[in-house]
Amino acid sequence: MENERKTVGVVGLGSMGLGMAQTLAGKGFRVVGFDLSAERCAAATPFNVEAPVDLVKLFSASDFVVFSLPTARDVAGLVNDHFVELSGRPDRRLIIIDTSTSEPDVSRELAKKLIAVGHGFLDAPVSGGPGGAASGNLAMMIGGSDEDVALARPVIEAMASKILHVGPSGAGNVAKLVNNLLVAAHMVTTSEGLKLAAAAGVSAEAALRVINAATGRSAISEVHFPTWIMSERFDSGFSMGLMRKDVRLARELSDRVGAKLPLSEVVGQLWAASADRLSNSDDFTQMGAFKSVAPTPDKKGSSNG
Ligand code: NAD
Repeated sequence: MENERKTVGVVGLGSMGLGMAQTLAGKGFRVVGFDLSAERCAAATPFNVEAPVDLVKLFSASDFVVFSLPTARDVAGLVNDHFVELSGRPDRRLIIIDTSTSEPDVSRELAKKLIAVGHGFLDAPVSGGPGGAASGNLAMMIGGSDEDVALARPVIEAMASKILHVGPSGAGNVAKLVNNLLVAAHMVTTSEGLKLAAAAGVSAEAALRVINAATGRSAISEVHFPTWIMSERFDSGFSMGLMRKDVRLARELSDRVGAKLPLSEVVGQLWAASADRLSNSDDFTQMGAFKSVAPTPDKKGSSNG
């Protein structure tokens, strides 16, 4: 099988990266991994992922490298720190598939730099959470050339069941920021809708059943509220810190392109202001918590918003 001959490096073995590495190894790729955390590397080895593999070795051994890193700065740091080695292998094209929620301008710059030395860079952020990563069922939104997407397709198809090639470099990042801005808004509006229902004498459970059978529904009301919020589990595997980053990046993008988004502005302020009660390591579903919040504007001192 073609897949068995290909080596994929996975850098960043966190909530998402570990699942992706596990999926790729399960589908016949040789997977070499690296994470700054020794614990995360150890968590990957039972899934047939060789980790930690020194980054110089990882870049030289891989046909494809998948990034799953917190920020654009981490992504750019890795590429720039290893650019000399990457420039030294013009005979073997390497495609970097960056699944991090990153910044369009950074992706465009890295793609330009890598293309100039014979490699490829796809901004390929994902949706679907750790469960989607571990089952190969992510939605992936891609920015980059047709040629690189075609070359990377076997790896992309192993990780994602919904593949959307949005446009040239940076387009995947833009689409992801738009998506997560809506996720941030749905989290707030759904929570407010349930608060209103409860204050008006209809249970939140009954109201949610109606929303999900009617037109007010979203993935947040259909999946996140029943799974992580109504149950008060708050363990979706996506952190407040990363979601605040996404909302901030979406606001910065709208400022840069001059888009006027009054409601998104308020959503952004609410997510930023939540830092006084929710830490970066809290799960982002905490933002939808509503049960212990009184219906009046004066709160009863709840810790979960
Ligand atoms: P995470 O914090 O769980 O994992 C990130 C990992 O990267 C950590 O294990 C960390 O040690 C490692 N790391 C950081 N800098 C590194 C470096 N320079 N070299 C090697 N490893 C490094 O984050 P996550 O939830 O897995 O998210 C990863 C990316 O995917 C983020 O950009 C996030 O916004 C995005 N994302 C997350 C989810 C989700 O549900 N968790 C969903 C979609 C997209």
